Amino acid sequence: MQLEKILQSQGFGSRKQCRQLIENGNIAIYGEVYSNPKADIEVNKLEFIVAGKSWQYREKVYIALHKPIGFECSHQPQHHSSVFSLLPAQLIERGIQCVGRLDQDTTGLLLLTDDGTFLQGLTHPKKHVAKRYIVTTNRPIIDEQITQLKQGVALRNEQGIYAADDCMQLGENQLVLTIHQGLYHQVKRMIAAVGNHVDALHRDQIGQFKLPDDLTEGQWIYLSDEQVNQAR
Ligand code: URA
Repeated sequence: MQLEKILQSQGFGSRKQCRQLIENGNIAIYGEVYSNPKADIEVNKLEFIVAGKSWQYREKVYIALHKPIGFECSHQPQHHSSVFSLLPAQLIERGIQCVGRLDQDTTGLLLLTDDGTFLQGLTHPKKHVAKRYIVTTNRPIIDEQITQLKQGVALRNEQGIYAADDCMQLGENQLVLTIHQGLYHQVKRMIAAVGNHVDALHRDQIGQFKLPDDLTEGQWIYLSDEQVNQAR
């Protein structure tokens, strides 16, 4: 693939901007500076340096972010910073999107990608992908609330009932809840429907993707090819 096309596909700007980067001597591949924008480069496992920073060619990107409180899952946030501000500009330029949303005050696992098929596979209602949440409640949890959450609760303005796929008490004010839908504020509304209130919400799993223990709030990693292929 032509070098200027490679850079453009990786989010380094317009074709013209990429051409300039190359012509200005900002691109090195395996120790050699390339100044010809039309140079034909093999992209498989390609590593390249842009202005001193190392990058790997990726046809698509798949990211796991540990979302902190106070960030909105939107390119046009209303009241807080955008989760996209936690990622390099090149990834945003590539058009990555959130795989489902978390509220600004929810922490935990957020997947992001520029692969529309992957995104659909994890978010389409018919796919029934399980999402697991650790819920801290305002009032002590009683057995009846767990039973109700498992049996299903009605939510205002929604048809039918919504039942947890799994629900287990972890502490006086904490439970783990798994659901496979992704309605707006669903967990908060389910907890309210059983007469309690969410004080803190944290997602630790989507399908088979688990939030890595060593990924601290605000940190992100690329998912491995193996992890991505397993989810297809
Ligand atoms: N349910 C909620 O209420 N909020 C979230 O952020 C995710 C699920």
